[in-house]
Amino acid sequence: MVIIRLIVAVLIVLTMVACGSQQPPAPSTGGVPKVGGTTVPATIDKQALVTETVQRASPTDYVPGELIVKFRADLKSSQTSAIHNAKGASLLKRLGVVDSGSIDLVRLPEGTDLKDAMRLYMADPSVEYAEPNYRRYLRSTIPNDTYFVRQWGLYNTGSMMNGTPGADIKAPLAWDFSRGSNSLVVAVIDTGVDYNHEDLYGKIWINNGEICTDGIDNDNNGYVDDCYGWNFVDRNNDPMDTDGHGTHVSGVIGAVTNNGLKIAGLLWDVKIMGLKFIGPNGGTTADAISALNYAVRMGAKIVNASYGSSTYSQAERDSIAAANQRGVLFIAAAGNDAENNDIAPSYPCSYGLPNIISVAATDQNDRIASFSSFGPSKVDVAAPGVYILSLIPNNGSGMNQDFWPGTSMATPHVVGTAGLILTNPEYVDLGFSIYQTRAFIEEYVDKLPSLEGKIRTGGRINAYKAVTAMLKPVNLTASTTGPTSVEPLRVNLKWQNRATGAENIRIERMQEGVDTHFVEIAQLSPDKDTYTDSAVSGEKTYHYRVRAFKGLSQSYVPTEERFIYTPYTNTVSVTTPVVPQSFGGGRGCSITPLPSQLDNGTIDVIIVMLPLMVVVFLIGRRLGSRPTGWSKVEYF
Ligand code: CA
Ligand code: CA
Repeated sequence: MVIIRLIVAVLIVLTMVACGSQQPPAPSTGGVPKVGGTTVPATIDKQALVTETVQRASPTDYVPGELIVKFRADLKSSQTSAIHNAKGASLLKRLGVVDSGSIDLVRLPEGTDLKDAMRLYMADPSVEYAEPNYRRYLRSTIPNDTYFVRQWGLYNTGSMMNGTPGADIKAPLAWDFSRGSNSLVVAVIDTGVDYNHEDLYGKIWINNGEICTDGIDNDNNGYVDDCYGWNFVDRNNDPMDTDGHGTHVSGVIGAVTNNGLKIAGLLWDVKIMGLKFIGPNGGTTADAISALNYAVRMGAKIVNASYGSSTYSQAERDSIAAANQRGVLFIAAAGNDAENNDIAPSYPCSYGLPNIISVAATDQNDRIASFSSFGPSKVDVAAPGVYILSLIPNNGSGMNQDFWPGTSMATPHVVGTAGLILTNPEYVDLGFSIYQTRAFIEEYVDKLPSLEGKIRTGGRINAYKAVTAMLKPVNLTASTTGPTSVEPLRVNLKWQNRATGAENIRIERMQEGVDTHFVEIAQLSPDKDTYTDSAVSGEKTYHYRVRAFKGLSQSYVPTEERFIYTPYTNTVSVTTPVVPQSFGGGRGCSITPLPSQLDNGTIDVIIVMLPLMVVVFLIGRRLGSRPTGWSKVEYF
């Protein structure tokens, strides 16, 4: 089918080409040399480069007194040295040959204005370009909190407990893209929270519908003076944590980050709703249900459930299912009994509801924690949960932070990551549901040998991958090449991919005056950042745009939510040049796509070939009526 269509296409092209013996002259303009298979511009617009630098670069962007100079390929090093000498500049380093021509780093004479020197070099015909020695920075955000270096779960340098560098969730890299939002409310259903802790200041949820001390249930939610959540153990409005567990969990999620104090929380901006249902003698499912209902009613989007036991409660399951109906994500600890939850379930983590993520614990060497429960089908992901430094209420010793182990400590790492995904400014336009959020956490884990066959995804979460998986491509440009005697007219697209987890890149085109909307013309592998469109004609205007795609196949993701597209790049427009009637005149080879431009020789060939064309074309139509290569990928 494909072969026959190809034959048809070749025949059509052949009939449109008339050949003679005379060699065509080279095209006079637009010549673009091919280098190593990649099309590169023959000349650089020096004026544009200077203007760009002068307008956009400030002195803090580059090294003062230094310039990078690229020479024409035909210059010898003695000649380039002479040029530097003539300008009073001294060669610091030859940066080596890229394609052709040397690139030199030079130091300018004292007091020289860098932009003036740049213009001076640019005016030299031997110089292709000159630019400042720009500064580059590590793309990650390291906060200044006192004990951040000990938070190996967020950023593991290997210095903590003989850890493995990189065995972490990559929080500093994730923070370059997302840091939470003050409109995100996370409920910590636990032992309460030390809402006076110095490193939780400003991060505690406040019920704005309640007047705190008037003894009236102002917002009519069934709880009197519930300004900072509720204490379901003692039936009062004070969820103060006297145990430490709930504060420790809260610190991982939302300690004040970058305040020069204590630890960094995963969410720089978040409101933590402290709900106390566990006291000295544990808690009950009735109180856990009441706390969850409160969280859902009062606007929490994510619930941290670092508790559980082996008993199944239908009422508890029903309450989490109700939270699911209201779009609330419920993230639960797998348990610390080193049990296989597939065989010995733990609740609430094992109810198997679409809004529940069950979390195991890993250590500083990316091994599963010795105490962590697991489950090849019932435990979804792992997260750091050994030697986790977080906040505790001051117990009189003057210390209000401590290292704790547990799947309880792993769970808030997943909660924080869910928050980073939900509030990621780059994802806002995508309007992620809780299922898509869950799928992103699970899809973009780091798969680890120690978790294979023990955890459903086989991986430890990676916040960086999750928040950068579907960033939109940027900087789309379009240019044309050809037509020449040997190359057809083409539009060359180039863009910058930013998505770290895309499945493919989709190219869309709209021809002005012909198409009424953009039409997808290609699907490329996600590492591709160029595309050549040969199916274009001369003197037409085309508009292009590009986006990345990812299909989600998790069964809990509703069918209509399984296609994830980034927003589009910028749209570029390009008008193709005139296609000359003939490059060689008379008997030269010519490519003439428009019937109005056909010469007599070409028409003769077409007349001879026409009956054959019609027959082959009809066979082609019968055998293959659908276009190939642009097929839609479906995920069910
Ligand atoms: Ca109230
Ligand atoms: Ca802090």
